[in-house]
Amino acid sequence: MNLPQTIPLWSPEIRGNAWRYAKECLDTNWVSSAGPFVDRFERIVAETVGVRHGVATMNGTSALHMALLIAGVEPDAEVIVPSLTFVACANAVRYCGAWPVFMDADPATWQMDPEKVRDFLTKECQWKEGGLLNRKTGRPIRAILPVHILGHPCDMDPLLELAHQHQLTVIEDAAESLGATYQGRRVGSLGDIACLSFNGNKIITTGGGGMILTNNPTWAERARYLTTQAKDDPEEYVHSEIGYNYRLSNLAAALGCAQMESLLEFIRRKVEIAKAYTEAFSQLPDLSVMPTAVWAQPIYWLFTIRLHGSDPTRGIQFIRHLASRGIQARRLWRPLHRLPMYRENQAYRIEAADGLYEEAVSLPSSVGLQPGDQQRVMESVQEFLKTRSLSLVASK
Ligand SMILES: *Cc1c(COP(=O)(O)O)cnc(C)c1O
Repeated sequence: MNLPQTIPLWSPEIRGNAWRYAKECLDTNWVSSAGPFVDRFERIVAETVGVRHGVATMNGTSALHMALLIAGVEPDAEVIVPSLTFVACANAVRYCGAWPVFMDADPATWQMDPEKVRDFLTKECQWKEGGLLNRKTGRPIRAILPVHILGHPCDMDPLLELAHQHQLTVIEDAAESLGATYQGRRVGSLGDIACLSFNGNKIITTGGGGMILTNNPTWAERARYLTTQAKDDPEEYVHSEIGYNYRLSNLAAALGCAQMESLLEFIRRKVEIAKAYTEAFSQLPDLSVMPTAVWAQPIYWLFTIRLHGSDPTRGIQFIRHLASRGIQARRLWRPLHRLPMYRENQAYRIEAADGLYEEAVSLPSSVGLQPGDQQRVMESVQEFLKTRSLSLVASK
């Protein structure tokens, strides 16, 4: 019997000039940490996002680490981080010797809740000795790290206003949302500095890669310096600081240049996929789709639904049901304040993030998802919800 192929949650879409550009690197020997594709890739991405400078890095996590360092996040300072995000965000804060303070998700957008950030900054912190101190820990708050999760922007205006009021730096993590807009402006251009990832599961990929984005020329120069081992002299090995080997290779950047040529087309496809899912699920009981705020144009990185109900094992049952039909689905990240290494960290009034973790499931969302395959996913979701509600009625 021929079983249908598994429909993956995500697979990269390699097309266009990828082979030609990669061959150019191989033919010219420019495969490593310098070369014309790196400059070109940085320029194209920065232009697309609408910032002056891009500095390519080996992955998104190293871009985050550098952005935090450059933004002045020093040891023992604190950074406001959402709890519902990928672990790299908190890890990068710890690489700087600083501490994350975890914030809740807003149930209306699933993004970091700006009202709770406001409450935290105004009620739990005080201005002292030229800085904002966390009353509970006595540490200075330095920065806010809004993460645009799942392809949807955070509500940036209130966060930017709070940052301005309290003299905090805003570091955007746009790893999952390249191309998404907030009130018509692209994410990654809204804060003081931003990061992207080009991992294989992101909207465009370089195999592995990332980028630091900023309008600040001094910061861009510093990013370039620190990511190349803080080399002071172009010829000699002279260094006056501890640097990092975080640069992206020309070979990876070549793939990135080819991918960027398809970005808008990829986003168009993602919007279509999201629309089809939204329509198919609009009448289903106990299910809602990921929210889209009126001020947002998301890129629907992973299309995610929420199963409502009192049974906490439902998400797992649902994922197993889809797996039995050859469909890969995934829960969101376990909220970071629940992870063993962050359990002792401050988590401020977290209420919504845990519920989202219990109930949200991401569905296959590849740019190349075939309409027939998407149909199969939608039917399997419908089947699960129908049989589940029938068995509930029968057991009453
Ligand atoms: C993917 C991702 C990162 C890290 O990127 P890598 O390239 O995997 O290091 C950081 N933040 C978020 C929100 C991500 O989704």
